[in-house]
Amino acid sequence: MTSSGEPEKMYISYNNIHQLCQEIAPKIKAFQPDLIIAIGGGGFIPARMLRSFLKEPGHPNVRIMAIILSLYEDIGTIGDQIEQVGTQVVRTQWIDYNQSKIDLVGKNVLIIDEVDDTRTTLHYAVSELKKDVEQQAKSQGKNPNDTKFGVFVLHDKQKPKRADLPDEIMKTGNYFAARTVPDVWIAYPWESTDIVYHTKKALEQDNDVFLPSTTQED
Ligand code: 5GP
Repeated sequence: MTSSGEPEKMYISYNNIHQLCQEIAPKIKAFQPDLIIAIGGGGFIPARMLRSFLKEPGHPNVRIMAIILSLYEDIGTIGDQIEQVGTQVVRTQWIDYNQSKIDLVGKNVLIIDEVDDTRTTLHYAVSELKKDVEQQAKSQGKNPNDTKFGVFVLHDKQKPKRADLPDEIMKTGNYFAARTVPDVWIAYPWESTDIVYHTKKALEQDNDVFLPSTTQED
């Protein structure tokens, strides 16, 4: 608790995120992603960091496509009581398949977001992308089941979720959460307007990973 009685936020530093990406990378390499789909804004920076750890010499970088989703609360009222009756995901940006020439059929697709909170956003992303796969597979006379989806989040909050992810992700080991955390508010560095204070708080809370340095970079 803070002095004002507010629950303490969990402060996460850029170093922490970089090292969580490094730590999870070997597991994600085993999934062999052909394409990364980053959910913006929170998935963008982890996706870019992770890609550095997936790079294999002599192979091109895994391509990152961006989608932007916003979660709106539908507020309804019963009498004078305000209650939350649901949530609605709004697509602000999606993949332009014609322009990008992205073909999802037969690919291993890794979806990245920063946090799995109620799971609503991830559920929406996976279900909509699966519809795109069905359409693309149909037009090519191919099998949509040849596409495999994986999910990577930095933090999975331990709480009842409002939506599910399919077994083909959850029961195949293709759901990658760098950390499972209690249901507290996580403060990410890209939201901070005082990164020095933010980083100090993250260090105080001892949230950093500190993997040993293994290479000498130029
Ligand atoms: P969902 O409830 O759909 O799993 O999460 C929706 C979005 O809410 C996330 O992508 C994230 O942007 C935001 N969100 C949920 N919990 C947190 C949190 O603890 N910290 C921050 N910064 N954003 C969160």
